[in-house]
Amino acid sequence: MDQDLDIIIVGAGLGGLAAAIGISKAGHRVTILEQAEQLGEVGAGIQIPPSSSRVLDQWGLLEKVRTIATLPHDFHLRTSNGTIMSTQNIQPFIEKKYGYPYFQVHRAGYHRILLNEAIRIGVNIKLQSTVIRIDFHKPAVTVRGDPDYEITPDLIIGADGLRSSCREALLARPDPPRLTGDLAYRSLVKVSDMKSPLLQELIRKPCTNYWMGPNMHAMCYFIEKNQLCNIVLIIPDDLPEGVNVESASVEEMQRKFDSWDPQLTELLRQVGSTTKWRLQDSVKMEQWSHPANKFVLLGDACHATLPYLAQGAAQAIEDGAVLGALFSKVTPSTARLHLPDILKLYEQLRKDRTAQVVQKSADFRVIFHMEDGPLQKERDRILLYEKPAKGFPFLFADPSIQEFLFGYDFAREVDVAWEEYERSPVLSLL
Ligand SMILES: Cc1cc2nc3c(=O)[nH]c(=O)nc-3n(C[C@H](O)[C@H](O)[C@H](O)COP(=O)(O)OP(=O)(O)OC[C@H]3O[C@@H](n4cnc5c(N)ncnc54)[C@H](O)[C@@H]3O)c2cc1C
Repeated sequence: MDQDLDIIIVGAGLGGLAAAIGISKAGHRVTILEQAEQLGEVGAGIQIPPSSSRVLDQWGLLEKVRTIATLPHDFHLRTSNGTIMSTQNIQPFIEKKYGYPYFQVHRAGYHRILLNEAIRIGVNIKLQSTVIRIDFHKPAVTVRGDPDYEITPDLIIGADGLRSSCREALLARPDPPRLTGDLAYRSLVKVSDMKSPLLQELIRKPCTNYWMGPNMHAMCYFIEKNQLCNIVLIIPDDLPEGVNVESASVEEMQRKFDSWDPQLTELLRQVGSTTKWRLQDSVKMEQWSHPANKFVLLGDACHATLPYLAQGAAQAIEDGAVLGALFSKVTPSTARLHLPDILKLYEQLRKDRTAQVVQKSADFRVIFHMEDGPLQKERDRILLYEKPAKGFPFLFADPSIQEFLFGYDFAREVDVAWEEYERSPVLSLL
């Protein structure tokens, strides 16, 4: 009998692909079931902090991603009129400090690189395969078809994103994502169209710019080797109930920011089309795995995050890398024996960290969106006159948050946890 494991991953997003690469490299047979007919060009900008580029480096993909990436010089935090209140150098400071670069890319290009790698190392990817039922004990997934059919692997990983049906199956109740009260306008502008003299300062030295104002904020950064400017505008959610993504009026979007920094309003004048995305996050889950030890969740399915710290994709990649590194601690022939403990260690290593990222992302919203008044004045005083230290309002400049976000070394975390486990391997009895 084959001893290596058959693993089904539900969802070929960034998290599902990362888990597939990590686990396949550890010697197991991985199949991804993805509901989409094709995996394509959807999405816009996404950020790859050093904790993720460390993972890419370990998998030999760092230089491939570099070919599609922009490396931002600085992150600037501005008031709505454009005054810079705080700056955090990214390139070279962050790369030197944490050993790996900070990239900004188009999600489609990043996704393609992970997809190609997964296929290259033998991951089986089945499109048009919507999982409609899970039996946690067998374990088995039922895939919609004509007729529906069942697959019985050794382990199921639910990586099916924000509106995860795997999460709802585990909880045995409906569990829609939490409304946050915000939506994002997402738009892309070609840098070749940014001809106005007002915009030349933005183009000359590619940076991430944040503008903050009461109940709203704006940000932009460059992707595709500085050829595209990715713009995200956050405003109070006014999407109709049940609608999560909708193409939207450019004029209405421009009007909402027409009294802001002239650089921003000029940039928004170049936008040809835009989309509104409802922003949702998750409540911390008690458990990511099923007690039968043959099912676990990963990525947005268990810790959807507001985008304000640009950590949603990064946390999904870290999840996949940690799972892969745990599987690589055992030989394929002993993995079955260790499976319950691998799942427990994965949860132990990832649940608190991702819950903290969800919370800190929500905290950043409060800082961005302060109404004018005493709190906003104090925020601005600290930003302008105090040296960044723990509790600094520009979270990217707070040294403790920086270390927490960027200094995470998935392999070291797994090594430490595994050494401890080997000293007293009783997790599965707990
Ligand atoms: C098409 C798309 C475009 C996006 N664009 C951006 C962007 O531009 N910027 C940004 O910051 N974030 C974007 N995101 C979100 C971001 O990629 C995720 O928040 C983050 O990467 C976490 O990824 P994930 O793998 O956990 O979930 P996701 O990336 O959401 O992937 C989940 C996958 O599971 C599949 N799936 C869902 N249900 C089932 C089912 N029952 N059976 C089989 N498959 C299923 C989905 O089709 C999807 O491919 C996008 C997500 C998607 C799916």
